[in-house]
Amino acid sequence: MKYLFLDMEWNQLNNQFNASEDEILEISAICAGEDFKNEKTFYKIVKPEHIKDVNKRILTFLKLGENVLACALPIYEVLNKFNKTFPEFNILVVWNRHTYDLFINAIGQNGIILPQHKVIVLQELLTIIDYFMGFEKAMKRYNVKYNPKVLHCSKYDAYYLKELFCTMKFLYKHQCQGDWKNKPVGLKNSDIIHSLKCHYIVGKNSIQASGYEDIFCGYKLCKHCVNTRKHIVMPKKFDVQKIYESYKFSEEKIAKLCEKFEMECNFSNKVIFIRTNISNWRIYHDEEKIINIFHENYRKSEKVRKKIKFNDGYHVQNIKCRNLYDAINYIHKHDENFFTKKKYNQNRIDLLFDMLEQERIEKNVAIDI
Ligand SMILES: [Zn+2]
Repeated sequence: MKYLFLDMEWNQLNNQFNASEDEILEISAICAGEDFKNEKTFYKIVKPEHIKDVNKRILTFLKLGENVLACALPIYEVLNKFNKTFPEFNILVVWNRHTYDLFINAIGQNGIILPQHKVIVLQELLTIIDYFMGFEKAMKRYNVKYNPKVLHCSKYDAYYLKELFCTMKFLYKHQCQGDWKNKPVGLKNSDIIHSLKCHYIVGKNSIQASGYEDIFCGYKLCKHCVNTRKHIVMPKKFDVQKIYESYKFSEEKIAKLCEKFEMECNFSNKVIFIRTNISNWRIYHDEEKIINIFHENYRKSEKVRKKIKFNDGYHVQNIKCRNLYDAINYIHKHDENFFTKKKYNQNRIDLLFDMLEQERIEKNVAIDI
């Protein structure tokens, strides 16, 4: 999935926005994958058809001179370059509806065909999960660092838009994960998210689990559900830094936690090796998210003793952990279960069978004893 963050500045001829009259003066965009890295950027000043009509106040506001506009490329050429720079993207993110309307109008007038995409108007999304606010207010609330001197230059605004989007996505996801009771659903082949009690859903056959955070992947919240405020919203106050830190990876914190659980740990690049009293584990991570958790097989096959591949002899765990601390907790609970049983009424053989049975469930395979 590719995101395209778009920002533009334009000359407003009258006091009201008018997509067919207003002329674009700047276009800026950043394309990024789901990790929001590997960016491709685009920034162009546009030569308006009616330079003399450009409002002087707008020029001062944008720090643009008439001479700069006169040397710039006309809209048709800029949009063509834009189209060539971004031949594919799936989600177009803009701050407000005007930006999108003006852009689509210009695209249409110049006969350019954009790849199929979904649109996220971030200000509208913010109004749904938080409340209505301006761009600068939003950046303050979501702790996005910005330089007030370059604000409203589309070159920088596109970058700020991306940062704001990432932070909002991360925090909203965090908020959703903390709310276990609110389980959203959707209908098969639909990208509308409903609350379980929504009357559009009740009695339907093809209901399936959904996630509120998918609104950052182009899914829409049902209007009826929004009006009845059934979805998850952001809290009045939140500490962005604190939430980020709880996710941030710290070897020291992990080591302390392992010590508490009587586990040994070793750190390598994006892998943590854990040794409990009964088994070995590997946690793969990207310093924020857990990628995979591997658990060593209790019974080693002949092939495994030779260790052909790095993860031979390990099976992957089919669970979702929010962060590394959750993963360590999971491992602790997983292996502790066997110890509690052992203490009471089981002999070694029973314990071994239990461990193999558990492993069989995890690998979802038949056991050949
Ligand atoms: Zn609904």
